[in-house]
Amino acid sequence: MLTILGLSREAHRRVDERSAVQRLRADLVSVQSVGWHGLAEGASDFTISSEAKTLDARIRREAQALPDPPGGKAEGERTVRLIDELLRGVRAEMADLGKTGRTAKARQDLTTTLLGSSDLLAAALDTAEHHASAQASSANTRLLRGSLAAIGIAAGMLGLLVIVAVRVRRRTEERFRALVEQSSEILLVLDADCRVTDVTEAAVRRTLGWDPAALRGRAVDELLEEDDRARTRAALQRLRQDAGPRPAFEIAVRHADGGLVHLEAIGNNLLDTPTVGGLVLTLRDVTERRVVEDELRHQAFHDALTGLPNRALFDDRLTQALRRTHRGETQVAVVLVDLDDFKAVNDSLGHAAGDALLVECARRFAAIVRGVDTAARLGGDEFAVLLEAEDADAAAADVADRLREALSEPVVLEGRSLHIEASIGVARARPGLSPLDVVRNADIAMYAAKGLGGDDLVVFRPEMLNAARERLDLREGLRHALERGELEVHYQPVVRLEDRAVFGVEALLRWNHPIHGSIAPARFIPVAEESGLIVSIGAWVVDRACRDLAALDRITPGVRVGVNISAVQLRDPGFVASVRDTLAATGVPAGRLVAELTESVFADDGEVGEALADLRALGVALSVDDFGTGYSSLDYLRRLDVDSVKIDRSFVAGIGEEPRDAALVRSIIQLGHALGLTMVAEGVEDVGQEHFLRDAGCELAQGWLFGRPAPLLPEPAPEPAAVA
Ligand code: C2E
Ligand code: CA
Ligand code: CA
Repeated sequence: MLTILGLSREAHRRVDERSAVQRLRADLVSVQSVGWHGLAEGASDFTISSEAKTLDARIRREAQALPDPPGGKAEGERTVRLIDELLRGVRAEMADLGKTGRTAKARQDLTTTLLGSSDLLAAALDTAEHHASAQASSANTRLLRGSLAAIGIAAGMLGLLVIVAVRVRRRTEERFRALVEQSSEILLVLDADCRVTDVTEAAVRRTLGWDPAALRGRAVDELLEEDDRARTRAALQRLRQDAGPRPAFEIAVRHADGGLVHLEAIGNNLLDTPTVGGLVLTLRDVTERRVVEDELRHQAFHDALTGLPNRALFDDRLTQALRRTHRGETQVAVVLVDLDDFKAVNDSLGHAAGDALLVECARRFAAIVRGVDTAARLGGDEFAVLLEAEDADAAAADVADRLREALSEPVVLEGRSLHIEASIGVARARPGLSPLDVVRNADIAMYAAKGLGGDDLVVFRPEMLNAARERLDLREGLRHALERGELEVHYQPVVRLEDRAVFGVEALLRWNHPIHGSIAPARFIPVAEESGLIVSIGAWVVDRACRDLAALDRITPGVRVGVNISAVQLRDPGFVASVRDTLAATGVPAGRLVAELTESVFADDGEVGEALADLRALGVALSVDDFGTGYSSLDYLRRLDVDSVKIDRSFVAGIGEEPRDAALVRSIIQLGHALGLTMVAEGVEDVGQEHFLRDAGCELAQGWLFGRPAPLLPEPAPEPAAVA
């Protein structure tokens, strides 16, 4: 030990202070050897504490015997207390160590640590001694005292270091072993060839249900699912090349019971660490997280009702597909499908039936698209198919055909067989178009198909964009049309066919646009309905018509006024009340107001049906407009106490030309009469039609033959003729 501590080098020196240093040093060596021997013997009855106590007392005495430092007695006492304190710590640790069992490993550790730290102490003591000898002649003991303090500290530290190091290491090892075994993570140690050399057994059994013994010696990629092998090999290859930190990667492994277990792998290259000498893979079971993530991802990208991809996923796939078109690999087209009259189904059969219809349509659409294409539900009754093909136009035409074919089979809902029709819009992706542009183009084409009466297919053409823009302009303009006084109501007479006497009038809306001039209702009413503006505009028409009735009365006493009411208005909860208020305010008897409504409105048993019944209860007469063009369930005619039926202009137009139309008109009239309804023919333009209708028993008629729609009171100054 003495040699180790280097005591022999200066042992011959004879200076008081120096000898004190020597003695201190010798004592400290004893402290160490006590600890060392104690551990080396491994005896449980080792009296380390008494040994330490004796040494402790001696060290304190030696320290007190040192001359006072220049700071005075207090300074010296502080140094002594410091040494004292350190030694107490050493003693406690030693005593503690004496109680616990000591393993051969701990002994070995102590030796190693002692050898290492003895050098440290030797250096500290040598420095102290060097100072002591250098300063001895000048009797300046200041440095010596500082050195002594340093010795004390170094000694204490060393003792602590030795003992604590052993304990900490042992405890750490135990704790670590326990942790590793308890851990839910699997540790795989691989050799440089990526073969398993070691594994945490409990975790393997728990997580994978495998026999850990069977793992050893196997190449790690053999354990993985086919899809993950190449990726894992590459990751391990990178790991082997350098020891830096590597990002985690995911692998999938089969549990012994056959289920798939997703593991997150973090690799550590410890090939150069002697105690490990391998690549360490830490595998964490993330199956649950993956399932939740997959579920969330699915929810985020799929429509809950039909299970089809939703708009977000559709947009994403479209974006990716467009990227591929930039590379010239394929062409892309979007096919938009919007069910016709879905609203009527929803309103008349209820939302559950509407949902069932959507689910059925989704099922059919999904069945006809190719695996590479995406059929999605974009919202409401709107579906879309994303196509990627060498010839997108041909593929789109093909898909559109199959979509319509898929819908041709009636859907049976609540015992009723429904014939489903859809409007289809197709748009090709062109260079420079964003995903949004392509969908918008398909949307415009789809609306054009709707405009053609539905059940149709339209392929987008650039000029349609202008029409769509115009609609937008119209909507903007319409917003201010009322307040700017641009709206006007014209009246067209309804005459008795018997004698052409005026029986009533129909109120027809006109929009005098500041730039576009007079705009026909066919152009702006759909825009007003879409935007909801029809609610305020429609209320204004009812009000205007009721006020005008007094003036109309002066020309034709007792005349009735027909006002067109759209379904959107009926759906507005305030509509019936607003009619009641208007009647009250203008003093018009309810029976002189005729609400003209299209057939589909009558088919509704929901909120629209209720509004209709309320309207009827007010005393307002109901008239079925455009009869023969919509849903025909004659039941409602009786149920709602309908007053009259207006035969659509298209049938009347065919009277002189199509014998079948003439026959049809005759039967409609007979049917109406059988139901006790007053029949009105629309669009009568010539005397031939007039005579036919009169002979067939039709009571009333309306058309250019009798009078065009015109403003009520001609302005004092001459105005251009009113247009139909
Ligand atoms: P509608 O209810 O079928 O109105 C009759 C339409 O036929 C009117 O077109 C009228 O001008 C036109 N017409 C009348 N006689 C003849 C004829 O002999 N030959 C031809 N070819 N047409 C004739 P208008 O005024 O353009 O109105 C179109 C549609 O706009 C109306 O069809 C109605 O559905 C709607 N509409 C008009 N005003 C309103 C309104 O205030 N509210 C609502 N919701 N819709 C309205
Ligand atoms: Ca009408
Ligand atoms: Ca009509």
